[in-house]
Amino acid sequence: MAVRMYAPKNRYLRIMVQNEHGVFKGQVRVTPDEAVDMNLLRVAVEESWGLQDDALVWVRVVRRSIDARKIPVVMQLTVEAGGEGVPEPANEIEDWVWQDVSNSPEVFIIGSGPAGLYAALELIMQGVKPIVIERGKDVRERRRDLAALTKDHLVNPDSNYCFGEGGAGTYSDGKLYTRSKKRGHLKEALEWLVVHGAPDSILVDAHPHIGTNKLPAIITSIRETIENSGGKVLFNTKLTNIVTENNQVVGVELESGGVTEIQSCESVILATGHSARDIFEMLVNSGIKVEAKPFALGVRVEHPQSFVDTVQYHGESRMNLLDEERLPAAAYNLVAQIDGRGVHSFCMCPGGIIAPCSTTPGEVVTNGWSPSKRNSPFANSGMVVTIDEAVWEAAGFSGPLAAMQYQAAVEQACWEAAGSTQAAPAQRLTDFVEGRPSRDLPECSYLPGVTPVDLNMLLPKMVVRSLRKGFIEFDRKLRGFIHEDAIVVAPESRTSSPVRIPRDKITLEHPELKGLYPCGEGGGYAGGILSAAMDGRKVAISVAEKMATPI
Ligand SMILES: Cc1cc2nc3c(=O)[nH]c(=O)nc-3n(C[C@H](O)[C@H](O)[C@H](O)COP(=O)(O)OP(=O)(O)OC[C@H]3O[C@@H](n4cnc5c(N)ncnc54)[C@H](O)[C@@H]3O)c2cc1C
Repeated sequence: MAVRMYAPKNRYLRIMVQNEHGVFKGQVRVTPDEAVDMNLLRVAVEESWGLQDDALVWVRVVRRSIDARKIPVVMQLTVEAGGEGVPEPANEIEDWVWQDVSNSPEVFIIGSGPAGLYAALELIMQGVKPIVIERGKDVRERRRDLAALTKDHLVNPDSNYCFGEGGAGTYSDGKLYTRSKKRGHLKEALEWLVVHGAPDSILVDAHPHIGTNKLPAIITSIRETIENSGGKVLFNTKLTNIVTENNQVVGVELESGGVTEIQSCESVILATGHSARDIFEMLVNSGIKVEAKPFALGVRVEHPQSFVDTVQYHGESRMNLLDEERLPAAAYNLVAQIDGRGVHSFCMCPGGIIAPCSTTPGEVVTNGWSPSKRNSPFANSGMVVTIDEAVWEAAGFSGPLAAMQYQAAVEQACWEAAGSTQAAPAQRLTDFVEGRPSRDLPECSYLPGVTPVDLNMLLPKMVVRSLRKGFIEFDRKLRGFIHEDAIVVAPESRTSSPVRIPRDKITLEHPELKGLYPCGEGGGYAGGILSAAMDGRKVAISVAEKMATPI
């Protein structure tokens, strides 16, 4: 039976319980130094819980977050601990085994992003053979196209930051945050990353982060699991059409190296992400129902990381605290309500860089990432406003692809304004808020370069109005946010899909086309790596259940 104990003279008055095996579990608030040194931590835990000196022989952290609201900055930990003779519980990661599906029935998955890859892993668990179709190249080949995009301003429409093995997830920031409340699913999604090479700290941290440098190897390892289990992953192969008969999928038209062929199939998981505009157009041209969907649009704002650290860690002995092991580069999360519209920060990348994420020549798109150490001197974040029907209609766009066309028009205008290369239009944050052009720009991490452009004149009026007021509000919340050395870079336009592909709530199939399973971010069912991955699993289970049901 669990015994409840209270620390009598506790530094921070924390509660802990002891289970029938003698293992203590509870919370402690400790210094950053104590959090990373097991000996110091053991002593701090004993002291916090009012235990005798040396009562504990082991301590392990099961949850970790930073409380930087006040001085001093403290680490809030949930720990398990035990004394002499109390064994440390075994590693809780399940022993995941993916069975051999070489001779099983097949299902086509289009897109190898987080949604497609997790759908493939789940199909294997369900005894179904996944055939993953990916328009882009494998992780290694893809890297060359990213270099050409950055250095030579060349956009390969099949291989870029959004397309290729692992989808937009491979060269993403790797923040693994989701608002999903399905704890079990979330834990499993994280475990699948750990068994494929992600650091196990992601199972402990309240705000887990992998980092762009570590993601490609994890993605490769997931592909190897799929192939070793008898599944297939076909690169440089593009879905160009869905073949139907009597409102049922009967095949997929695939194009590879200029050759087009039709493969028969009854089920296809469509996980092509939010940037595959040709897929949305193909669906509309084929009479398959899709709907325009509100999406987020705005800019990336970049500050010196030292500014964010100083504010968030209260300027207190910042240089001492900024040891990567003890305290990470600081982040922020800002929200404001402006004239009934939300303005919010999105995908904040401490110690990161702004990346060129266009998928078609003739447009500029920005996003952000950071390495696992988060050690660049810059902190960037998306700052976005919701674009809804009223906005795109007022701009003259209508129909199921109206939001997508509005999004494309903004991206093309930014490309033209900055000189028709991958250079991005940018402005000093101070000038943007004051409504005056910038004569020069501060240093910026965006490698293709930035061109001074008055974003007040370039971006949609509603977006400019909301952002300017929002930034003034943010300056109240994060003192000094409107910083002399901060830069605004445009546009941040691919945070969410501008199209929804409808699906039945129970079967997850398209309501008008049996066998078509919209999945992940592209269909409007996810926003980020983890939610896309979890949606992939959910759809795969639905497909497998249908296959197992006798007709
Ligand atoms: C720079 C950057 C940083 C990011 N940082 C984060 C982060 O820190 N945390 C987070 O949660 N999210 C982040 N994201 C967003 C995240 O990557 C996406 O939410 C996620 O990848 C969506 O997963 P998905 O599988 O639904 O689609 P995608 O990842 O977009 O994958 C779709 C795949 O489909 C393929 N495809 C498209 N059309 C076809 C076709 N016709 N035939 C065959 N294949 C096709 C594409 O090549 C692509 O591989 C970031 C994104 C970027 C670009």
